[in-house]
Amino acid sequence: MPNPISREEKQKLLEEIKESLKNRGFKTTEARQKLISYLIDYGRHFEIEDLVVWIRERCRDYKNCPSRPTVYRTVKLLEELGYVKPVLKQGNRTVYEFLPVKGEHYHLLCLSCGKLVEFEAPQIGDMVKGIAQREGFKYLHHHLEVCGICPECLQKEERKEN
Ligand SMILES: [Zn+2]
Ligand SMILES: [Zn+2]
Repeated sequence: MPNPISREEKQKLLEEIKESLKNRGFKTTEARQKLISYLIDYGRHFEIEDLVVWIRERCRDYKNCPSRPTVYRTVKLLEELGYVKPVLKQGNRTVYEFLPVKGEHYHLLCLSCGKLVEFEAPQIGDMVKGIAQREGFKYLHHHLEVCGICPECLQKEERKEN
């Protein structure tokens, strides 16, 4: 669920990320800033190669477009800074999430095609926090992945059987 954020929020977020890059001694080149801006616009799960293609389709000003190595390096940096988190590792495939534009949500994973579907369920969060409290835990975070077969793959399987 991409959370569309306002222009002001986007600007604030860009500044904040720029600051934390600077504070850690990393360069904030124009290409890097552009990449972060694209990442905010993208707003959903991404695999780095998909992001590279998506950016290439949009970036008109050829000079300062983030190159593939810039995308890879910057995503790694953002991961170190806690803005990006790998949510799925499957073989060679890593799916990342850009955290600042997301609310608390969960994933349904299709074990046949690898599709990842997001859903929100605040009641789960409340329940998990309640359990942690009951057990005397200070709550930090939780992770839930529901595995199954997506409707498209189910249909394909049915067609094969008939
Ligand atoms: Zn599937
Ligand atoms: Zn997600």
